[in-house]
Amino acid sequence: MVEVIRVETSNPAVRVEIRAIGAGAFCPGCEAWSERVHSSYLRFPADLPSVGRRVVLALRVRRFTCPDGSCPRRTFVEQVQWPPGPGPAPGARRRHPHPLARGPPAGRGDLP
Ligand SMILES: [Zn+2]
Repeated sequence: MVEVIRVETSNPAVRVEIRAIGAGAFCPGCEAWSERVHSSYLRFPADLPSVGRRVVLALRVRRFTCPDGSCPRRTFVEQVQWPPGPGPAPGARRRHPHPLARGPPAGRGDLP
């Protein structure tokens, strides 16, 4: 899961900065949970063609410090699933149906 941090439209290209949602990540070495951000940097996973303008994705990736002092990894980079998996998140579309999509109430219009 990712969230949009900001969108810059001042350049010829539209730049969309995104990051992973979540306060921390699991260390791939010892599987300890860490929320101690060591540093972060930008990745550019894809340039998307747009209508007349280029869209540049900037993915902010964080490096965490492993809380386990004996872990050989010491720091690790969070794994961000990008592009996101197919389809919307469960329940994301169903909660608020568009009012115009409902159609007329049932039963009306058949009366004499
Ligand atoms: Zn570790």
